[in-house]
Amino acid sequence: MKATILYGPGDVRVEERDLPRIEQPTDAVIRISATCVCGSDLWPYRGLQAINGPTPMGHEYCGIVEEVGSAVRTVKPGQFVIGSFFASDNTCPHCHVGYQTSCQQREFISTAQAPVLRVPMADGTLVATPDVPPDAMVPSLLTVSDVMGTGWFAAVAANVKPGMTVAVVGDGAVGLLGVLSAQRMGAERIIAMSRHEKRQQLARAFGATDIVSERGDEGVARIMDITKGIGADAVLECVGTQQSMMQAIRSTRPGGSVGYVGVPHGVELNGEELFFSHVRLHGGPAPVRRFLPELIDLVWNGKIDPGKVFDLELPLDQVAEGYRAMDERRAIKALLRP
Ligand SMILES: [Zn+2]
Ligand SMILES: [Zn+2]
Repeated sequence: MKATILYGPGDVRVEERDLPRIEQPTDAVIRISATCVCGSDLWPYRGLQAINGPTPMGHEYCGIVEEVGSAVRTVKPGQFVIGSFFASDNTCPHCHVGYQTSCQQREFISTAQAPVLRVPMADGTLVATPDVPPDAMVPSLLTVSDVMGTGWFAAVAANVKPGMTVAVVGDGAVGLLGVLSAQRMGAERIIAMSRHEKRQQLARAFGATDIVSERGDEGVARIMDITKGIGADAVLECVGTQQSMMQAIRSTRPGGSVGYVGVPHGVELNGEELFFSHVRLHGGPAPVRRFLPELIDLVWNGKIDPGKVFDLELPLDQVAEGYRAMDERRAIKALLRP
């Protein structure tokens, strides 16, 4: 099969690779209906994260089960399934409390930008939809594999409740879907921080009531203005830089919470400032598996349409253009069809 391989900075290719097959009795092999490029794929693509030789890419996926190992019980061939970017057993103590991305047996999925994918621990990892979905629903279902689940976790971690004022730092796909998540959870006021016209429009479509285009200290000052000097009840940090993290913490009211899901790159926190801020921090790699049944249900019943974050769709053999477009911020997120 032809699959995506990253060779080095700016050099992503589609090359022949062995077809995945069942290796463990708990595996499933699925035929990918759609996959996509993630903001986190851009770190190695930009050379900001080292790779060890040619590296297969992709961790967001959905598709039809082709084959299952002899021990698999809950999914079967022909079903349309979605899984998280970490495979998990869904039975260990960490999975039991809903932290499947810390599963004692977790395995990162890293070969999904391909026509066929092997998924370990299929029973614990994959959730089937009620039926094979219509083609138009596939992009929205794909987002629950990572970006929608991650935006949702940011809102859960920030403890978003009905009536709250919520600020979202970051206008990538995760931040935009954080806006949608806060809206679903009943936030009254949602302040999206973005300076990008097209992304501001999508943020508004997802439920943002205010847009702040300033960053850093100026961005914090604007949030303070809007909230009459109090700060937001909940802030979703969806970038992962020092500036975005401090912007999130300083925009939060005493007793409020920051949900942070941007993978930190060089973030360092000052203990004394944190102590006197009275702000709660919770975040990490989103335990997407916890939210899959609920989010699949919301998409299936037309309550949410997170697939709107895909503003570029390409056949898999043009994956390089998907990386380029996202790197140059010409596209929010690129969907790939094998
Ligand atoms: Zn991702
Ligand atoms: Zn587990």
